[in-house]
Amino acid sequence: MKNNIVDLQNKLQALLLSQHDNFTQGKVADYIPALGNVKPELAGICVATIDGKTVGVGDYQRPFSIQSISKVFGLVMAMNRLGDSLWQRVKMEPSGQPFNSIIQLEWEKGIPRNPVINAGALLVSDVLTSHFSASKLAFLSFVRKLANNETIHVDKQVYQSELSHGNRNAALAYLMKSFGNIEAEIPELLSHYFTQCAVAMSCQQLAQSLLFLANKGVDPLSKNIICSPKDAHRVNAILSTSGMYDQSGEFAFSVGLPAKSGVGGGLIAIVPNYGVICTWSPPLNSFGNSVVGMNLVAGIAEELGLSIYH
Ligand code: GLN
Repeated sequence: MKNNIVDLQNKLQALLLSQHDNFTQGKVADYIPALGNVKPELAGICVATIDGKTVGVGDYQRPFSIQSISKVFGLVMAMNRLGDSLWQRVKMEPSGQPFNSIIQLEWEKGIPRNPVINAGALLVSDVLTSHFSASKLAFLSFVRKLANNETIHVDKQVYQSELSHGNRNAALAYLMKSFGNIEAEIPELLSHYFTQCAVAMSCQQLAQSLLFLANKGVDPLSKNIICSPKDAHRVNAILSTSGMYDQSGEFAFSVGLPAKSGVGGGLIAIVPNYGVICTWSPPLNSFGNSVVGMNLVAGIAEELGLSIYH
């Protein structure tokens, strides 16, 4: 067992070193100004397994803005709360559009293509805002419980920064409301969405907190049932087809794991019946996915033969 851990750590270290020249290939997101202050050369990778091992290298214990990775937690909460009726308000198809695109939403009468593009996550935020008396607190409690860490917090600076630069998300939400697909008042809904995006977590915390998706809905460490096996399957299916936005096809083709990226530079990949890989490197490609993060996940998935399509 110990040898396995040392071996994995060596592999992760070698992979991270191999990325040394690639930090300049992407661009740190600055459309949310507070994210633009993060150093581009910070990077970490962590692998957590369902049998309780956690191995990480680089900046894997340093919290970063989880951004769209929060959509995974929000979706699980909304599925648990609403059951199958959720799928009348949001679909499960790849969008083939950028994550914050507004075009499709007009054609498709305010029904988002899937819950991990911004329109879909705003819809999920509406469900949470409307069904929890204190949805932001409920969200934070959920991730703190999953990560078994009460110190996880919302980065207020990132929250404020996104709130004052969130016109496109506001437009998506108002458009959906005009079609009758949003219940809450938009400012309240946006406040929830920006709060969950501004949660700061490390690669280690993210990898451990998402283990239930690799373990048929059961947190392997606490043994708590987080969602049904059917819903774990559904989330993984959505992450496989849409989690990397308009690069999801390429990611499935070259890596073969359900995954979700965030514009803070985080990337999580679920390996069913094995564990979770989480990487962090802020520079993004034009799809909004971390350049080095994708290379790291691709590298370790190949070395360990983790693709779900084998
Ligand atoms: N908060 C970001 C936004 O709404 C999340 C996007 C992302 O991480 N892809 O634009």
